[in-house]
Amino acid sequence: MLKMFLTSVLNLFRKPATHLYPFEPYEPFEDYRGRIVWNEEKCTFCMRCEMVCPPGAIKIMIMEDDTKRWLWNPAQCIYCGECVRNCPFGALTQENQYSPPLDKSNKRDWSEIEREAERLKLLWRERLRKKSQAKKSS
Ligand code: SF4
Ligand code: SF4
Repeated sequence: MLKMFLTSVLNLFRKPATHLYPFEPYEPFEDYRGRIVWNEEKCTFCMRCEMVCPPGAIKIMIMEDDTKRWLWNPAQCIYCGECVRNCPFGALTQENQYSPPLDKSNKRDWSEIEREAERLKLLWRERLRKKSQAKKSS
């Protein structure tokens, strides 16, 4: 009881244990599992990272001109590192830095991205199906 009382009194004179991040810089500890970094040059768009991501924080878009985009949602990511462990080409790394806070300038409508990515994948599969049918009949 006395110990608790003393701790409470001492805490009145101590600095707060919390940090005012993002208003004040905060240096994460060495093993902190932070933002995911994608290396475009190593990525083959195999989609494994998208498949293993538990909350669906990675989306790969296959555009109608066959170009591809890799998208990551820092607000949905649980920073588990599964995508990094499962990338067969070493195209992903996890830094010990925080993701920048999201505001109007960098926040994306993720639901819209998910819908669009699924729509584009259906179109892509259809294109592949037609290509393979054309090959068979030629
Ligand atoms: S698992 Fe790696 S290579 Fe495959 S799409 Fe993801 S980042 Fe690219
Ligand atoms: S760290 Fe986990 S939650 Fe975040 S993108 Fe990778 S697999 Fe998904």
